[in-house]
Amino acid sequence: MMSGLKNRGRKKEDVDDRRNAVEAFTGVKLTSIASYSIDPLLAAKNIENMIGCVQVPVGFVGPLAIRGDHANGDFLIPMATTEAALVASVNRGCSVITASGGARVVITKDEMTRAPVFKVKDVRHMVEVTRWVADHFAEIKKEAESTTKHGRLVSIQPFAAGRSLFLRFSYETGDAMGMNMATIATEAAAKYIEKETGAVLVSISGNMCTDKKAAAINFILGRGKTVHVDALIPREIVDSKLHTTPESVAEASFRKNQVGSGLALAYGFNAHIANILAAIFIATGQDPAQIVEGSMGMTTCEVVDHSLYISVRLPSLEVGTVGGGTRLPCQREALAMMGCLGESKAKKFAEIVAATALAGELSTLAAEAAGELASAHKALGR
Ligand code: NAP
Repeated sequence: MMSGLKNRGRKKEDVDDRRNAVEAFTGVKLTSIASYSIDPLLAAKNIENMIGCVQVPVGFVGPLAIRGDHANGDFLIPMATTEAALVASVNRGCSVITASGGARVVITKDEMTRAPVFKVKDVRHMVEVTRWVADHFAEIKKEAESTTKHGRLVSIQPFAAGRSLFLRFSYETGDAMGMNMATIATEAAAKYIEKETGAVLVSISGNMCTDKKAAAINFILGRGKTVHVDALIPREIVDSKLHTTPESVAEASFRKNQVGSGLALAYGFNAHIANILAAIFIATGQDPAQIVEGSMGMTTCEVVDHSLYISVRLPSLEVGTVGGGTRLPCQREALAMMGCLGESKAKKFAEIVAATALAGELSTLAAEAAGELASAHKALGR
């Protein structure tokens, strides 16, 4: 029954035909999924077999004062979610950070990675190929960059086990998140390496990248943007707005984020960074599957000069302001709300995402320290 459907049909009528066929097959009327405003042609590079759209409610948090190298000012941030209490909680964190002078943000690394796996003859061949790659970096870079105007190959890091050799390519990708860009460039480079060294390319993605899987390599080396954000919250603001003390928040953070996550051998040493990332990623057309690596952040809290110092380290924040889902109209509006649409905006956007994650961490840790977490969810979500 489905074989007659045109996967590549992009017009509204094609979408209607396809949805009608799905309704006939499943016996379910898809009235809500059929109700959407975007031109399916616009989504042609984002989806196959389109039958309609799913709507997710969008709210906002802010103003959030951010003192970054790229984002500097007060921002309203869109969040798309179905989790009650999330927007309210992050909004409270924004209000506290803004009243305290704002969040400081820095980006220390900005490289998207792709790591093909090659089969080599033995460990000596592995060493020969690894040396050849190091000695011929300039030619490999030329091959990779022949596929893109904005991508720049920065480094190739080798990892090996037996007859498997992984080359982790790192790229600057301009304002794109860069995964397609890095994959296409790496394929050109990998074919060149294969031709010159006799190493056999087995897969363009050998999982040392590591894309969409929780992995220590991303936690330690970073992937996408590595962002650090912090704020100092005066004791009286912790008291008046969060109903707790700097000591209680610092202890909740230590026992939960450091001891609890350590005991669980978790890669995320934080309260709920995934929540903030998921809501902003969905609102702004980022790839939601990359919340896996984005969520592997570390939150720290200390009492400094009688105030609450809080920081978040996001080693693998994979975001862009061009390409992927950022082409779609709702997502473009959401990016535009923050002045983050298009060229030269990706770092600004990353700083805003990180500062919002800090607001989410602050509010939730304070709620836990004050014993208010369950009551807030009960009041807003039940
Ligand atoms: P993309 O939309 O595939 O590529 C970005 C495009 O924007 C390129 O054509 C680039 O041209 C162009 N561009 C224009 N102005 C730019 C600027 N200022 N900075 C950077 N690029 C600019 O997006 P992508 O970020 O590379 O990949 C994102 C997509 O990859 C998402 O849809 C995601 O879901 C998907 N994805 C793919 C894989 C995979 O393995 N392929 C894995 C995970 C996710 P030039 O290249 O000529 O510079």
